[in-house]
Amino acid sequence: MKFWVAAMMAGGVMGAASLPVRAECSNPDALGVSRVMPVSVADGPVGLASYKRTLALDDHEVVLTFDDGPIANRTPAVLKALERECVKATFFTVGVMAAAYPKLVQETAQAGHTIGTHTWSHRYLTQRRNRNAADFQIGGGLHAANVALGEEKAALSPFFRFPGLNHNKRLDAFVAENGLISVSVDIVGDDWLFITPDQVLQRTMARLEQKKKGIILLHDIQNRTVQMLPALLRQLKERGYRVVHIVPDETETRVALAKLGEPQSRSFQIAMARTRTKIAKLGAPDLAPVPGFIEPVEKAPSTRPLAERVASIEAAPAPRPVAFARVQAAPPPAP
Ligand SMILES: [Zn+2]
Repeated sequence: MKFWVAAMMAGGVMGAASLPVRAECSNPDALGVSRVMPVSVADGPVGLASYKRTLALDDHEVVLTFDDGPIANRTPAVLKALERECVKATFFTVGVMAAAYPKLVQETAQAGHTIGTHTWSHRYLTQRRNRNAADFQIGGGLHAANVALGEEKAALSPFFRFPGLNHNKRLDAFVAENGLISVSVDIVGDDWLFITPDQVLQRTMARLEQKKKGIILLHDIQNRTVQMLPALLRQLKERGYRVVHIVPDETETRVALAKLGEPQSRSFQIAMARTRTKIAKLGAPDLAPVPGFIEPVEKAPSTRPLAERVASIEAAPAPRPVAFARVQAAPPPAP
């Protein structure tokens, strides 16, 4: 039997920045989502591991985040564990992974989670001086997720996380200029280290009990995370923690996509063509055109005699460069 999870406002000072939660859930004892928090460019950057500020969470509130996926054999198990507890999280996808597993990105979005991005191929950007590298990595990660999402683009956010949390002032400025919000972390679970699932659980909870709230970093590509996640969600519930789901402003996502144009490199375009083929095989409806693509406008054939048309063109003043470029880019005239 289905029922509605309690629609709770956190109230107080955070009330203005919260939306009520009203999601279907088939588990009456679920951890659930206590509130939805819209996060906009004005709120960033956040995460005490990298900055002096973080999200305005109340005591015992957590935001769950999963990095580096999706991946075939683990992300579905993470999604299942979250579904069982009716919890929504944010997934910071890596571009090459999203390109390889578009179905999983779409399933993550369909389950109601937020999609953030984490570069094209997980390069540590502080080690690259070339501004084009940041442009390609950050823009590539965002556009790969956008393409992989197909019809589920509403889940895409301008939330961005630096690989290895490696950032500097130049990169922070680049991210902000391009309309992205750097979302670092407050609490790490160390799930990328060679430790047991139980150790991940213990470390995460111990750090949380110390800080009482925060953005938690986990990885959906790690088996130890898959193993410990159901127990972590249970412990959060038992110890009175509440899950906050961060969501983007869709307009801001579109601005970031436009500012960071889709990389035009051959390798990226080939990868996207493959992703689109994969999506088409899933039976998804037609994809929207890539950002920046201008739909050719069908022109009705002119009924004026050719000589008259030529004369009128020659009599017109010389086009300005911008207008000329537009004429050049226009489709050929109808025969
Ligand atoms: Zn990562």
